[in-house]
Amino acid sequence: MTRLDSVIRRLTAQRDLLDWATREISAQGLVLELGLGNGRTYDHLRERLPGREIYVFERSPAAHPDCIPPDEYLIVGDIFETLPLFTERFGAGSAALVHADIGTGDAQANRELAQRLSPLIESLLQPGGLLVADRAFDLPSCADISAQTGVSEGRYFVYRR
Ligand code: SAM
Repeated sequence: MTRLDSVIRRLTAQRDLLDWATREISAQGLVLELGLGNGRTYDHLRERLPGREIYVFERSPAAHPDCIPPDEYLIVGDIFETLPLFTERFGAGSAALVHADIGTGDAQANRELAQRLSPLIESLLQPGGLLVADRAFDLPSCADISAQTGVSEGRYFVYRR
């Protein structure tokens, strides 16, 4: 498999799972996008979930100009500072869907990031809420349902609280 094949497979899994999750989630609850990046997945989520509140977390926003969230929905700063404040504001159990795509090419740094982020995401998910993520997380109160979604093992991850 070439690197191009690998990127295409990862992005296809990402899109398919976001489509699946947007059909699956409860009608109540916030949607969180962790890592705006170029704004591709944010654009996809807002198109699939019209009228839904989508909060986006990003430390240095530099997305395509068409894909910048409204000011009140863009939470700028390091997620380890902004996410706890967000939980204080909206309360634990307020999120129906969290999409986390904030990793880099550094596998060890990614593992540490997921380890630190896991408890913050876990407390935000409502019962039945979903985490869709680019890597494995450690969420004791959630079930890893990746295999039930049809995604190839290890390509993208889904957890349900
Ligand atoms: N899903 C996006 C898309 O489709 O365009 C790509 C996201 S990109 C892979 C990851 C983003 O997460 C980067 O823009 C980076 O700045 C952001 N990020 C990484 N660590 C962060 C942190 N600790 N706090 C806030 N943002 C972070």
